[in-house]
Amino acid sequence: MKRILGLFLAVCLLLAGCGAEGSKKYTRNFFAMNTYMTMTAYGPHAEEGMKAAEEGIRAIEDALSVTREGSDVWRVNHRTDEAVTLGSDAEAVMREALALAEQTGGALDPTIYPVVEAWGFTKEQRRVPGSGELREVVSRTGWQRVHLEKNKLVLAPGMEIDFGALGKGYAGREAGRILCRHNVRSAIISLGGNVEAVGSRPDGTPWRVGLRAPDGEGYAGMISVRDAAVVTSGSYERYFVDVEGKRWHHIIDPATGYPAENGLLSVTVIGSDGLLCDALSTALFVMGRDRASAFWRSRDDFEMILIEEGRRITVTEGLEKAFSVLPEYTGSTVEVLRK
Ligand code: AMP
Ligand code: MG
Repeated sequence: MKRILGLFLAVCLLLAGCGAEGSKKYTRNFFAMNTYMTMTAYGPHAEEGMKAAEEGIRAIEDALSVTREGSDVWRVNHRTDEAVTLGSDAEAVMREALALAEQTGGALDPTIYPVVEAWGFTKEQRRVPGSGELREVVSRTGWQRVHLEKNKLVLAPGMEIDFGALGKGYAGREAGRILCRHNVRSAIISLGGNVEAVGSRPDGTPWRVGLRAPDGEGYAGMISVRDAAVVTSGSYERYFVDVEGKRWHHIIDPATGYPAENGLLSVTVIGSDGLLCDALSTALFVMGRDRASAFWRSRDDFEMILIEEGRRITVTEGLEKAFSVLPEYTGSTVEVLRK
């Protein structure tokens, strides 16, 4: 009996393998949204699916770019009339951003752009703004003052928007959906710090995604996922050091206008919705460990990994089996957060 079963399995494997087309690997690399993106997909529809997904990402960039003249976001920030008509991508992202701004108590704020500009993160002229200047730019922010009526966006004078915190997550989510519509069942897209996994690896095992060490070279851990986004926000991604040697990074606490300082070095969010994961990775970074933990306990649509100073790692219980620390990430401790 065992032998028959063995033979049966061998034939199955052979058949699976000789969908030779089925397991053929294709990759596509390109630069968009200020990052190098890599797609890997398997199967007979991989090439055409990835081409369409890249086109989808480029169309999203055309709509959401804060610097590209004529993009929806650019038109909002350079408006002459009170109301600006948004295209469908910008409208969808703004609607979800406002909902998440409310849910996170304003830790995510799509109107934070004047503050990001004051810190010089938009033009590579990084500097510490004075407290008076910060007060002025913070006074021009506030998601509660955004009015979105169907596709018409109305902002108070002086306000500006930016989807830097969730645009790539949206692009990953849409690219994943495009691949699915093209019958691609096994693919992985890397958009900088954002990963979108479609299905599992062609052999049925989960995709493995490395987690950058936020305080050194290489990786801190590894996470196994299927059909999920893995998105990291980290203070190591964009920062500068001032004349006194103090480090300032790009994730701003909207309540103060200063980069969030709460001991967190990176926040990774895993879930089925890439936009949600991206928005939350930024918001949870602002919240800090305790508020982020309470927020996670109040919901059931994501899991997270927090890395704090001192290599203190916190993993939510849904990832207990999927996450492992790499041996080279020495001196780390792992705590499992339970509901
Ligand atoms: P992420 O890398 O996804 O955490 O996004 C960080 C980027 O989002 C920054 O470079 C800013 O452009 C923008 N940003 C910074 N702080 C916030 C915030 N609290 N809410 C919304 N966007 C932010
Ligand atoms: Mg984000």
